[in-house]
Amino acid sequence: KAQVECPPDSAALGRSTWTFLHTMAAYYPRQPSEQQRHDMSSLLDKFSRFYPCGHCAEHLQAEMEVDPPRVDSRHELSQWMCETHNKVNEMLGKKIFDCTKVDERWRDGPADGSCD
Ligand code: FAD
Repeated sequence: KAQVECPPDSAALGRSTWTFLHTMAAYYPRQPSEQQRHDMSSLLDKFSRFYPCGHCAEHLQAEMEVDPPRVDSRHELSQWMCETHNKVNEMLGKKIFDCTKVDERWRDGPADGSCD
């Protein structure tokens, strides 16, 4: 029987999307230009309007109004993304992630080199 690949449910979509968002933040410039700051704010704004999980998108837009993306540096964006993800984690009863560990998780890997 042929193997069928099913469309993603909201959990699979969420995992893939967080991978993209945290990785994008981890490689955002340390000192972004005015244009890059503008573009990142705009990207995240548009992203929140088209995220293909209706109630997730609504919640994200509400969060972004209260706490807009911090696009002034790689560090700020990575921390903002972590805090935003933690708000969703909290709402879903998931573990809160330690935001001092975002670089290790999404860019550098652990110090023991096990991901190299
Ligand atoms: P995920 O939460 O997908 O996390 C993936 C990996 O990211 C984890 O294994 C961990 O290593 C790492 N991680 C976890 N927390 C953090 C953090 N704070 N910072 C950095 N790395 C971290 N689902 C809903 O049911 N309702 C919603 O309203 C909802 N809103 C969402 C909004 C957005 C913008 C996104 C992208 C997803 C949303 N989801 C929502 C999906 C939900 O967040 C999870 O992706 C999904 O439930 C799968 O969870 P998971 O346990 O596999 O890990």
